[in-house]
Amino acid sequence: MPYVYDPMNIFARILRGEIPNKTLLDTPHSLAFHDIRPQAPVHVLVIPKGPYVNFDHFSADASDAEIVDFTRAVGEVCRLTATCPGDGDGGYRLISNAGDAGVQEVPHLHVHVLGGRVLGWMVQRFE
Ligand code: AMP
Repeated sequence: MPYVYDPMNIFARILRGEIPNKTLLDTPHSLAFHDIRPQAPVHVLVIPKGPYVNFDHFSADASDAEIVDFTRAVGEVCRLTATCPGDGDGGYRLISNAGDAGVQEVPHLHVHVLGGRVLGWMVQRFE
């Protein structure tokens, strides 16, 4: 099934400079900024600058340079926010929601970097 990218999604508009953001990191192929509705003391979103809907789209169609840049950007955000294991209160969680099952709100690939407190169970427990 082909991936369909909506260029009017809010992260595309942030990348075009149409909407402000609180940038933490800007690299040739990636942008990291603070989530507007933080769910934890640390809540940063890392996005590729290219038009990718979700992680499986990105992994299939992005160039090696984009994939390396994005992977390094996510790691750098973990370091910048001082949430890495071994760094005091260490630990973090990476989440990338996709589609209906993942309850994805914005259809542009993003990784949530969450930390700064103990985050509890990974997902709501399935009964
Ligand atoms: P998801 O449900 O994984 O698609 O998450 C989308 C995230 O984008 C949510 O955590 C929102 O709070 C966040 N968000 C939406 N609009 C903005 C914005 N303008 N700036 C920063 N974060 C945003």
